[in-house]
Parts: sequence; structure tokens; C-alpha cells
Amino acid sequence: MKGSKCRCGFAVNTANIKCPKCGKNMKSAKWADEGTVISCVKVGFPPEGEHGPMNIALVQVAGRGPKVICWTDVCFSTGDAVTISEPAKQRYLCQKASGQSAIRP
Ligand SMILES: [Zn+2]
Repeated sequence: MKGSKCRCGFAVNTANIKCPKCGKNMKSAKWADEGTVISCVKVGFPPEGEHGPMNIALVQVAGRGPKVICWTDVCFSTGDAVTISEPAKQRYLCQKASGQSAIRP
């Protein structure tokens, strides 16, 4: 996953030039496509044209990366380790990480 990070610790998944938190210049950064679920909600009524039901997870990308919104087939619990993919439409999907120990945020 590509994005930008700042010396203050703030990270985003976009090519930001100025940090929205402290105003300093940000540097481009890259993280592994894995993270830890912060929270997950079930979407009762999916967006038009989408197949439901789907769930939305807020995921902290590993290695002090950004927090990103991922769509999932199942609703995860807080702390679950997941892998993240971005197949299309600039939308992230995540699935349970395969059988390894929990990834630290
Ligand atoms: Zn900053």
C-alpha cells in the first residue's frame, strides 16, 4: 500500500504534500498490505449497484501506516489480523490473515 507519512507519525493512503495534522511536508511511503482491525460494522443496506450484505472494517495498516476503510464479506472483531487488497474502484477489501500470529499495528 502506498501513501504518505509525516515525521509527527501521521500517515495517509494518498499522496499528500502537507501533513493535515501538523502542516509539515510529508514523504511518500509504502507499507505491507496487512493490518489490524480497529472496528467493523455491518452494512444493512449496501450502496446502489452493490451486492449485499457487506461489512465495513476500519483497519490500522501495519508498520505505523494509515487507517483505511475496507469492505469485507464477514464482520471482523477488533484486533483481528487481516490482509488488504485493492482490486478495483479504489476500494480496499480485506480478509483474515492466513494463520500467523497477530500483526502489530
Ligand atoms: Zn505531521
